[in-house]
Amino acid sequence: MTSAGTPLGDFVLSAVELLAGDDPELHDALCGEHERQESALSLVASSSVTDPSVLACLSSAAMNVTAEGYPGARYHAGCEQADVIERLAVDRAKEVFGAQYVNTQSHSATTANYTVLSSLLRPGDTIMGMRLDQGGHLTHGSRAAYSGTYFQAIGYGLDADGLIDYDEAAALAAFHRPKLIICGATAYPRNVDWARFRRIADQVGALLMADISHTAGLVAAGLNTSPIDHAHVTTTCTHKQLAGPRGGLIMCGKDAGTPFGDTGRTLAEQLARALFPYFQGAPILPMIAAKARALGLARTAAYRRTMRRTVDNSRALADELTALGYTVVSGGSDNHIVLLDLTGNALSGLVAEKALESVGIIVNKNRVPGDRRSASTCSGIRIGTNSVAQRGFGAAEMRHCAELIHQVLEAVRPNGDRAYALDDFAADFVRAEVRKLMSGFPLPRYPRLLGEPSGKRQ
Ligand SMILES: *Cc1c(COP(=O)(O)O)cnc(C)c1O
Repeated sequence: MTSAGTPLGDFVLSAVELLAGDDPELHDALCGEHERQESALSLVASSSVTDPSVLACLSSAAMNVTAEGYPGARYHAGCEQADVIERLAVDRAKEVFGAQYVNTQSHSATTANYTVLSSLLRPGDTIMGMRLDQGGHLTHGSRAAYSGTYFQAIGYGLDADGLIDYDEAAALAAFHRPKLIICGATAYPRNVDWARFRRIADQVGALLMADISHTAGLVAAGLNTSPIDHAHVTTTCTHKQLAGPRGGLIMCGKDAGTPFGDTGRTLAEQLARALFPYFQGAPILPMIAAKARALGLARTAAYRRTMRRTVDNSRALADELTALGYTVVSGGSDNHIVLLDLTGNALSGLVAEKALESVGIIVNKNRVPGDRRSASTCSGIRIGTNSVAQRGFGAAEMRHCAELIHQVLEAVRPNGDRAYALDDFAADFVRAEVRKLMSGFPLPRYPRLLGEPSGKRQ
């Protein structure tokens, strides 16, 4: 099917015309961001390239639909298409994740997590999650994040090898008797043993929530074990590995029908009563349409091939960095993340991040086990392969990336943990190499921009 002459096709074209004419300042800033993405070597573990067909869903009249009287009433009167769109998203999420209950309305994984906690717990209850400085997410059990909120948070961490310390988690659970345990991480390069977490939760009568925001694509593709039938509830964002719009999902597997306490409701019914009116307001229909589209893409063989490349690339990068003399946390990677350990190195993670950014290589500073630097400077960097796998990189390109990172880190002269000088010659060389490399791997299914002058194009 072609879009010319359809309401959506004509709409998107004329909408951009209106933007360029009415607000050139904003239009140019958006163009500039698009150009930056095409030429940057993005190794940001939490981002992906969103398919243009996903973005098309966001530029539609669906934004004009709101919901009234939640919960209960659906979208406002007369919007049958809204229910069709949400049904597509829900059905596709069920298919992709093997879920029995799905809610597609969360605006983000953060709100998805709070929605789950708030619908299943009481104020003052204790939760347990991975500590922030060990790779957990802010919403998982960081004392700092939870102080002053409804819940008490305790955190488990990593062992000396950089792997989740399940024994510590079990001991903490036995001592503190949390009502809910969170597993899944933000900066953890290895598989998580969901079944083991479920045993820990069952031993203390806790609910288990798995947050797979970072690895949802690998789970969808069957390359990482799925938590869906191990955890009582699984949450994810839709914009990291799923490469969809910013948003969240709440799902249940085989525990969907498990009675929830003595409420007379099942777990899924308890979650479905939820909370959107109190925690985030009305659902965003175009966002749900875009989730449906991203989940549609996640069912394809092409997506599975990309996910396979994502892990293979991560392993290739970890191997090459190790061969170049670097320490990689946990000794390798099972997913899209490589954590480079700079403890004992004169370079802080912050300086490494800034120096790499200055030549067009984008990574994030990250804390690593045994880190003595502050949270704002860090002793590691987190490198991710989602975007480059989507752009078609293979093992050879990953070795090239490792080599370029090495050349930059070798050429940096740190001045404390925040400032540095970078040799001009090395910087110019790597910057040119990055540009050349990326020009061979344009953003997939985006119109090609590189090599043309910035600004006006035909
Ligand atoms: C990124 C992340 C989130 C937050 O996602 P948002 O949708 O941006 O709120 C939640 N949990 C984990 C594990 C994450 O990595």
